[in-house]
Amino acid sequence: MAVVCPECDNPITVDTEEVEEGETVLCDECGLEMEVVSVDPLELAPVDVAGYDDEDDTPAAAEEDEE
Ligand SMILES: [Zn+2]
Repeated sequence: MAVVCPECDNPITVDTEEVEEGETVLCDECGLEMEVVSVDPLELAPVDVAGYDDEDDTPAAAEEDEE
């Protein structure tokens, strides 16, 4: 089964017998990481990398304190 990358419209073939919910798949074209939200029916959601684009909104000190 194939889904279309929301970032670059590249078809990504996902073997639903090979993946499980919670796993991540990568787009070969743009490297977008997507989490398998559901296998049946197949549903993927882009994984947002927190703080990657919004470093100003997330003080680094706060993240370090959580560990
Ligand atoms: Zn892509």
